Amino acid sequence: MTIIPSRGRYAPSPTGPLHLGNLRTALVAWLHTRLAGGQFILRIEDLDQTRSRAECIEQIIEDLRWIGLDWDEGPDMCGPGVPYLQSQRTAFYEAAFTQLRNARRVYPCYCSRKDVALAANAPHGRENSSIYPGTCRPLASDTAPPSGRVGAWRYRVHNNTIEVLDQIRGPLLQTLDVEVGDFVVRRADRLYAYQLAVAVDDALMGITDVVRGADLLDSTPRQVELLNSLGLPLPRYWHIPLMTDALGRRLSKRDGDQGVTALRLQGRAPECVVGHLAASLGLIPREEPLSTGDLLAQLSSASLRERLIAAASEPSQVSHGPAA
Ligand code: GLU
Repeated sequence: MTIIPSRGRYAPSPTGPLHLGNLRTALVAWLHTRLAGGQFILRIEDLDQTRSRAECIEQIIEDLRWIGLDWDEGPDMCGPGVPYLQSQRTAFYEAAFTQLRNARRVYPCYCSRKDVALAANAPHGRENSSIYPGTCRPLASDTAPPSGRVGAWRYRVHNNTIEVLDQIRGPLLQTLDVEVGDFVVRRADRLYAYQLAVAVDDALMGITDVVRGADLLDSTPRQVELLNSLGLPLPRYWHIPLMTDALGRRLSKRDGDQGVTALRLQGRAPECVVGHLAASLGLIPREEPLSTGDLLAQLSSASLRERLIAAASEPSQVSHGPAA
């Protein structure tokens, strides 16, 4: 039997400074990989250049290094999965898209957001207005566009149920045509959509375990469907709880006072941040300063998983910020 070595990743979008919730996800992804003796990859998801900021990439790298994470491949070093910036990986997405197009799994869509909203509000429109009504579905993948218009491209879903066995949350079933609808894989501005890019990158970079925030759980069946259609291998998925503020709201990148760079520049000790993040997920019994190496030494793959499962069954993990 061949044992495939574990490969994990952290894949931030450089659209703003990392907040503590982002950092906690990075920490858990790193712990998971290192406990399995695997390789850790940093991939920067800067596909949407209008929202990405170059200075955020540097900040993210500094923040991650500051709390004591390391990686074997990433934008600041080499590796077999090079390049590690999504903005430089368009050729891979193009090849996957062409494969889907040749297999007639995608079709061009010329509907505007307004068209989609109007169709949903029509008397017999779909109950869930975020589901595409299928107006352009009859178009073949080689249909010539109406003059002067560039369409988006949608993936044609079937009425099959996708089952994902999440390592933390257990089985998730999603029937794509009822719950998601035909989804965009290439936008009208020619940018490849997150779902396609992330699925292709995880497969081509040989990622065996995707550890990420629970907000992406719903996206996973779409990624699994794309991987199946492309004949690419599936990783295991681990969706970990999101950190919330005292009002129960998810942290967001706009939430400046939870920014990691700010804590770093204020001269806070990284060990206090690690202790705070680990305690907030129940990885250690009480909050106390410790290094990422000390945290690693206190855990095993089995105990990490057990504690993440326990944390996922709690309502939320509130962050009040690390103790001063
Ligand atoms: N780039 C996404 C984010 O920053 C994460 C994508 C993923 O982990 O699949 O939220």
